[in-house]
Amino acid sequence: MTKIRPLKDIIEVMPSKEAADVELVTKAYEFATEAHKDQKRYSGDPYSVHTTEVGYYLAEAGLDAQTISAGLLHDTVEDAGVKPMDIEEKFGPEVRALVEGVTKLGALRYRGLERHTESLRNLFAATAKDIRVLIIKLMDRLHNARTLEHVPNPEKRERIALETLEIYAPIADRLGMSVLKQELEDAAFPHAYPDDYDKTRELLKERRHENEKRLEKTEKDLKRELAEANLRDFRMETRMKGLYSLFRKLERKDWDITKIYDIIALRVVFPSAADCYVALGIIHAQWRPVPGKIKDYMAFPKPNGYQSIHTTVYTGDGGALEIQLRTESQHQEAQFGIASHLSYKEVQEGAAPRRGSLEWARQFFPLRGWGKEEISPDAPESKPESVPEWVKELSRAHHAPGASEEYMDTLKSDFFSRRIFAFTPKGDVIDLPVAATPIDFAYAVHSDLGNTMSSARVNGKMVALDTELRNGDMVEIVTRPPGKPSRKWHDIAKTNMAKKHIRAALAARDRAEPKR
Ligand code: MN
Repeated sequence: MTKIRPLKDIIEVMPSKEAADVELVTKAYEFATEAHKDQKRYSGDPYSVHTTEVGYYLAEAGLDAQTISAGLLHDTVEDAGVKPMDIEEKFGPEVRALVEGVTKLGALRYRGLERHTESLRNLFAATAKDIRVLIIKLMDRLHNARTLEHVPNPEKRERIALETLEIYAPIADRLGMSVLKQELEDAAFPHAYPDDYDKTRELLKERRHENEKRLEKTEKDLKRELAEANLRDFRMETRMKGLYSLFRKLERKDWDITKIYDIIALRVVFPSAADCYVALGIIHAQWRPVPGKIKDYMAFPKPNGYQSIHTTVYTGDGGALEIQLRTESQHQEAQFGIASHLSYKEVQEGAAPRRGSLEWARQFFPLRGWGKEEISPDAPESKPESVPEWVKELSRAHHAPGASEEYMDTLKSDFFSRRIFAFTPKGDVIDLPVAATPIDFAYAVHSDLGNTMSSARVNGKMVALDTELRNGDMVEIVTRPPGKPSRKWHDIAKTNMAKKHIRAALAARDRAEPKR
């Protein structure tokens, strides 16, 4: 039998120790434990094992007292018949709104893979109100995934596992919460694909010793090299690839594990980005880098905000090893993503957008491409807010002047403007600038779709092609090949991507039918 997580554990890890915050969490803990006292989990454990664990995860991830309290209370409305009004009276309107948000998301059910896009869409729409709702839901799911073996119905178990892999883990990834993403995946993997899980684990076991030996030797040599260059202020840690992520990579590499170099990676955390670049030089002078494997996510962060320098080097024993270099703050953000911002009180102050709102979240994470990455080809490559001025200088110095200018233009035109999210009929999310039109939408999905477009329906209604799309619109593009991109379309379009494709289509047509 699992014991209920004691209140003191939660208070110990929560970031704020202010009396009012501790009091709120204590009250929520006691209220929720009382409300669920007659309920049990499938495991036979008291129900509060679940709710207190969710509260603990949230505290550990650095969330505020309101979110921790809402996490403790998250099942009281749905499962214990507590009235939202009572929650508001005891814990305030903020906690009530968070609990209600989670309860609403709970009504969604995964009905096989073909339904997942719709669930994703609903999740996304709910997020726009408060990112914290989604984080509570992710932690709720993490505990449920970790206790899946107790769910008696095998179909239900599989459904929850698949849903975790297809919906929840990708959302954690979009929020930059990589630790959570890996935990969700590895908890769900054995229940979603039991045979692949066994096979992956077996393969990993065979390679483990060799990998660990290589890591140990490289770590020792690198420490010496860095010390010789007078770099002494750093710490090293080992990053194990998650089993599910290893499985996905094995599938792409025909199950040849010798082709995977990042099963174990060596991570070095320095005080400054400048140290990281110096260290990169030292590493490449000592070990030959694997061509094409050097990735400077520091100058060009990933869409979810991830920043680090990655390189893979031949270690001289016939193998190779990935080394990751990053600063302490980049490390925090890479591990906990958006949650690392939610723990800072100062974010609340000033005229900034309401904390937790999507607009607020976008300060840190562009949150683009919630559907498939490849469907928004004109989306920017990185997020400017997190790129310090000196790194931009560095990237200007390190890249061709033309490329650098283009990079800065992309930043200016796309990043500092606000974005909207529209949906394809299948539920894929298309990220567009405000005032984008169906023409922009079509070209964002695919240039062929834009070039063969004849009309568009928004939320089921036929609209003019210059209609401004709004957040949450579902857009259906009607095509009639060969299609007619025109000058007028070019004037209507708001995105550079659409304009570029229209110009190309017009030029191609001019060549095909020269004017007389
Ligand atoms: Mn729950």
